[in-house]
Amino acid sequence: MASNGALDARDRGAMLSSLATERFDVLVIGGGITGAGAALDAASRGLRVALVEARDLASGTSSRSSKLIHGGLRYLEQFDFKLVYEALRERDLLVSKLAPHLVKPVSFLYPLQKKVVERPYVGAGLVLYDAMEGTRRPVPHHRHLTARGALKRAPALSPDRLAGGMLYYDAQVDDARYTLTVARTAAAHGAVIATRASAVGLLRAPGGGPMIGARVRDEETDRSFDVSAAAVVACAGVWTDLVHELAGVQAGYKVRMSKGVHVVVPRAAVDADTGMILRTDKSVLFFIPWGEHWIVGTTDTDFSGDRAGPVATEEDVEYILAAANRVLARPLTRADVIAVYAGLRPLVEAAAGNGAKPTTKLSREHVVDVPVPGLASIAGGKFTTYRLMARDVVDAAVADFGRPVPGSVTDQVPLLGADGLAAVQPAAGRLAEDYGVSRAVVEHLLGRYGTLATEVLEEIRSDAALAQPLAPGHPYLRAEVAYAVTHEGALHVEDVLVRRTRLFIESADSGAAVAADVAAIMGRLLGWNRRRRAAETRRYLDLVRAEQLVLAIDPGPLPDRALAG
Ligand SMILES: Cc1cc2nc3c(=O)[nH]c(=O)nc-3n(C[C@H](O)[C@H](O)[C@H](O)COP(=O)(O)OP(=O)(O)OC[C@H]3O[C@@H](n4cnc5c(N)ncnc54)[C@H](O)[C@@H]3O)c2cc1C
Repeated sequence: MASNGALDARDRGAMLSSLATERFDVLVIGGGITGAGAALDAASRGLRVALVEARDLASGTSSRSSKLIHGGLRYLEQFDFKLVYEALRERDLLVSKLAPHLVKPVSFLYPLQKKVVERPYVGAGLVLYDAMEGTRRPVPHHRHLTARGALKRAPALSPDRLAGGMLYYDAQVDDARYTLTVARTAAAHGAVIATRASAVGLLRAPGGGPMIGARVRDEETDRSFDVSAAAVVACAGVWTDLVHELAGVQAGYKVRMSKGVHVVVPRAAVDADTGMILRTDKSVLFFIPWGEHWIVGTTDTDFSGDRAGPVATEEDVEYILAAANRVLARPLTRADVIAVYAGLRPLVEAAAGNGAKPTTKLSREHVVDVPVPGLASIAGGKFTTYRLMARDVVDAAVADFGRPVPGSVTDQVPLLGADGLAAVQPAAGRLAEDYGVSRAVVEHLLGRYGTLATEVLEEIRSDAALAQPLAPGHPYLRAEVAYAVTHEGALHVEDVLVRRTRLFIESADSGAAVAADVAAIMGRLLGWNRRRRAAETRRYLDLVRAEQLVLAIDPGPLPDRALAG
């Protein structure tokens, strides 16, 4: 809406009424990375765009990934060269131009256990991996390490089985924040972005004509209204088959869900100054550095339960710990695990299905289909290749517009916060002085918001109490909660603690102790009375309790203070 791309939760009423009254060129269903990318792709071609997301931006798979922007070394083994080639080029574009504030290079150590056979094999793969990059190289080449060299980088490795190592580079991202930033960039180009707004039916022109929009339910009030659009673009991830059902159409592909689980352990539990990748029987296991923690995963198993709330099982956690412990000198135990999360890969297969193929062997490429005029749908792919996916599905959607529509330009559209970053980073010290905060605070904000960090600092200027940390031992500020409401469309405590910040997975109590503080800050902006604040807090604590019950984690007593509102 606004030209600075602010998604102000206080303007939700006005935003919904523009959804109901305007006529759009493109209506995107789904606010994961694919839908946010499609909204940006279409809006930056000059089209009038709306996006509806049933829950929160990135609340599906796009906040539950391994958070890597990578070519996918293991796909080389499956001869998926096109996917790796495209993904590496995307990685480099994001790191160097489109989102250098959010996508950051990270190194991975591949410990070798069988010197003679393994080094030439892995080495050849990495030569190919590096060679597939473009000529501009924002991440360094891979390197060979001796066993001693590998141990120096990762003293946590057990020396017994270590024959040497290879070090290579990829990139990492906060997936939920990235998705949000893409959606905000789309809004800066005029897209209307609505969360907690579900497409509950698709509208078809009389006489079996093309799709002309969707019936949308506001999940906050249960009121429904129609949104009209020349084309509907379904980016619904693991919900794609359900959207096809809503439309009453049979698409040329269907989605197979594969569950992937990660555990989060403190950084101190594994002594290493680099990420690590291990080969497992079925796939690979990553140790991904994540602030003061490691994210370790993942698994890959068929799934058929609740799409909205996939949960990890004891077996998943044991599998990850056992795979990790194969190389560690001091084994990880359940006591090290502070959080566990599960996500669902929306893998695609032909409509006829191929239930026999293991999910690890299914291609990660994406598929676009136009099952009926006016409806283009997409699924599969990877977070890393979202921009290409978005381009392809928007191309399909506008193909029969009957007027010329410009091609995709998103390779030239830096995300909000990227423009001018090179000039703001060196000014961190001056910004710290200007706003009366520490340099560490400014650097934390630059790493999350890029040049938009000054907007968060402005919140502090107008209310100094917002400069206080949100939770002891974590870098987030109270100002970031306020900003989440005024600029990032956060409507509930969960939105702030699970996705705008990541306290849900970074804090041993999942952020329960600060839920009431978050409700208080949000409530002041959104006009919540005491009862509403208590209800919002309780809703979050129920979510935390449900997750912990599944894993039989003892959260200890949840804070009474939290319930006081
Ligand atoms: C464990 C795991 C690890 C991964 N790691 C990586 C990685 O490191 N790097 C990488 O590149 N990729 C990775 N991926 C893949 C990547 O995360 C996914 O491909 C990507 O996030 C899918 O995004 P999406 O937008 O298609 O789906 P989602 O993020 O699931 O978005 C779909 C959205 O549609 C909404 N929706 C559904 N139905 C409706 C409706 N009727 N109305 C309105 N909204 C609706 C949902 O609420 C949801 O938010 C990983 C995946 C998993 C599961």
